[in-house]
Amino acid sequence: MKIGILSFQGGVIEHIKHIEALNSSAVEIKNPDQLDDIDGIILPGGESTTIGKLLKDTNMMIPLREKILNGLPVWGTCAGMILLANNIENSDKSYLRVIDITVRRNAYGSQIDSFSENALIKDVSPHKIPLVFIRAPFITRLGSDVESLCKVNGNTVAAKYKNILVTSFHPELTENLDFHKYFLSQCRQLVKS
Ligand code: GLN
Repeated sequence: MKIGILSFQGGVIEHIKHIEALNSSAVEIKNPDQLDDIDGIILPGGESTTIGKLLKDTNMMIPLREKILNGLPVWGTCAGMILLANNIENSDKSYLRVIDITVRRNAYGSQIDSFSENALIKDVSPHKIPLVFIRAPFITRLGSDVESLCKVNGNTVAAKYKNILVTSFHPELTENLDFHKYFLSQCRQLVKS
């Protein structure tokens, strides 16, 4: 498996380390030509407004959107989730618009309200895994075909639709590899089908 990590900003190195720890290769993606040569892509956390602007400036927005709509497995963590969402509740912007969810940016407050917690996500692991939230969004509306994978305090913080996976939290900032393992297994299944 060769996984691309969108590498404009944010938690790039951490995702690369987790993918490599699972014996798959990870490549930094900075331009649209590189999109043809990967089995899946991760959109890391960071600042969605900045990453969104860079997606436009590098002419990546349209080809990346097309690849995802044609089945390229994608996982957006935190800002990555905001970039994939159809609607952003507290912003007039939207970016890739490939998953029918509405997200609320900075839904838990500012940097000092960042927190972590352990939760059981049965599709991902039989054990509780640590979830780290940093100026995180959560999902306020799920389209009817979108599956909620995990709720924290009643709000959906992980969801899946076809080849698209979104999480409010950052598994790459913990030692736990289960979420990356899960994404790789989704990529393998989708590449085969
Ligand atoms: N608050 C950021 C945003 O709205 C996301 C934070 C993160 O990715 N850790 O883009």
